[in-house]
Amino acid sequence: MSNGACHVLRCPNPAATVINLARPEHFAIDVALCSSHAQEVQAGVPWHYEFEQHVLLMGQDLDVAGRRLAVEYESYSKDVGTAMQGASVLTFRDSAEEPVDLHVTTEAIERFIVSYIDEWPSLDLEAARKRYSKDDPDGTQ
Ligand SMILES: [Zn+2]
Repeated sequence: MSNGACHVLRCPNPAATVINLARPEHFAIDVALCSSHAQEVQAGVPWHYEFEQHVLLMGQDLDVAGRRLAVEYESYSKDVGTAMQGASVLTFRDSAEEPVDLHVTTEAIERFIVSYIDEWPSLDLEAARKRYSKDDPDGTQ
């Protein structure tokens, strides 16, 4: 099964193995990978399969494609915007343990919360607040 090249974008190595990729948001699909990329995928390094190009995006190509997945909320810092427009930096951690910062206006956060409550009316916001209050930079608890 080692005919052809590794399916990771721009990887010049020959394919060494075929791995079946299955994730909730993906079709299960077989991709041919070189040995080092196969090891990374099996170790849980983030990837995204591009159907149109039939390639696997990893590393910086994930960022360029806007496909980096935040898996854990870390913290926020307030009032990083201009005086005219308040904003916060929301810090998440991705599955490669790297921090991902989002600069978000207060207005956008408010709209997000409203849409979130609309979509999941049973969400226990009080429990969520307690869970994350250790990250509250204002110490309001
Ligand atoms: Zn490769």
